[in-house]
Amino acid sequence: MKEIRMVDLHTQYLRLKEEIDAAIQEVIDTSAFINGPAVRTFAAHLAEYTGAAHVIPCGNGTDALQAALASLHPDPGDEVIVPDFTFIATVETVALLGLTPVVADVDPDTFLLQPAAVEQLITPRTRAVIPVHLFGQTVDMEPLMQLAGKHGLYVIEDAAQALGTRYTFSDGTEKMAGTIGHIGCTSFFPSKNLGAFGDGGAIFTDDEERALFLRSYVNHGTQKKYYHERVGVNSRLDTLQAAILDVKLRHLDAFIAARQAVAARYDEDLGSVPFLQTPARAPRTTHSFHQYTLVTKGIDRARFMEHLREGGIPSMIYYPLPMHRQEAFSRFSFHGKELPVTQKLCNTVVSLPVHTEMEREQTDYIISRIKTFRP
Ligand SMILES: *Cc1c(COP(=O)(O)O)cnc(C)c1O
Repeated sequence: MKEIRMVDLHTQYLRLKEEIDAAIQEVIDTSAFINGPAVRTFAAHLAEYTGAAHVIPCGNGTDALQAALASLHPDPGDEVIVPDFTFIATVETVALLGLTPVVADVDPDTFLLQPAAVEQLITPRTRAVIPVHLFGQTVDMEPLMQLAGKHGLYVIEDAAQALGTRYTFSDGTEKMAGTIGHIGCTSFFPSKNLGAFGDGGAIFTDDEERALFLRSYVNHGTQKKYYHERVGVNSRLDTLQAAILDVKLRHLDAFIAARQAVAARYDEDLGSVPFLQTPARAPRTTHSFHQYTLVTKGIDRARFMEHLREGGIPSMIYYPLPMHRQEAFSRFSFHGKELPVTQKLCNTVVSLPVHTEMEREQTDYIISRIKTFRP
């Protein structure tokens, strides 16, 4: 049996080698490494895939969030509601721009931000909310958009883990994660649903004026070279990454189907294991299984992970420390508060290997190894 990894980017590359090598060679042959034609081609294909009117490629998902927040032209100290259970970038960018993150606890079963929890945190200073589509399911966007509309808030989706996930509104309309809020952000970090061979990101919006701002912001505040209309950042998507991503985008739905197949096997066989809770399905969203995350119940998680490791199976904790306990945010009022759901999740979750190249034999082996654990 092949070595089990959390993600197996090498095997995936070997499978697509011919297509990817040709795309890379073409960029080298033209040597248009910055803002080359592949960047525009990829952005157009991603717009087609997601249905977003405007796709603004950028250097990474964190910069996408920063640019999205900057495009709201916020006042210093404006509040932005974020979930406690997320990757640091969601909250870090808010603080970096001189805004005030306000942290909401999450749903214990789906791990997602709840519109009702957001509502309780709205103040006259609230400017925006950032729903994070954690692990591959979207937040329940219909009630969240209604709430935002009622209070005049902007919604910035953090779709770094959910590119390719679909959300269905009660009238049957289907939208892609990242295209539902006013702005959507995604990441092409190598292990994400659509991963580059390095860093990359993109911003989605249907608002033309905002798209112009965002394009300028990520390129030194420029529309015309050497004429700078605002202070921006240097955050462009490399042409090489765009060329690779354009190849991989054609396979994204197949990648997601492969992840879903692994998750379905885990669900089927781990559902009856008394010390594990398999991932709950959130309403109206598909699940792209960026992560397959279990909640351990009444066992020593470290011992469980050690049991897997001894069997040659990696596992990871996403995430070990809530935002409200991060030293980086010690100056904010949510620091050190009680947010019991996220705290408990951080103490009990464990993510299993799930990727596009997993073989049946590997999944079977992981399941059987889990079943030999004695609490
Ligand atoms: C990966 C990730 C980001 C940041 O993306 P980078 O491309 O690594 O900067 C932001 N939010 C979430 C939830 C992520 O998982």
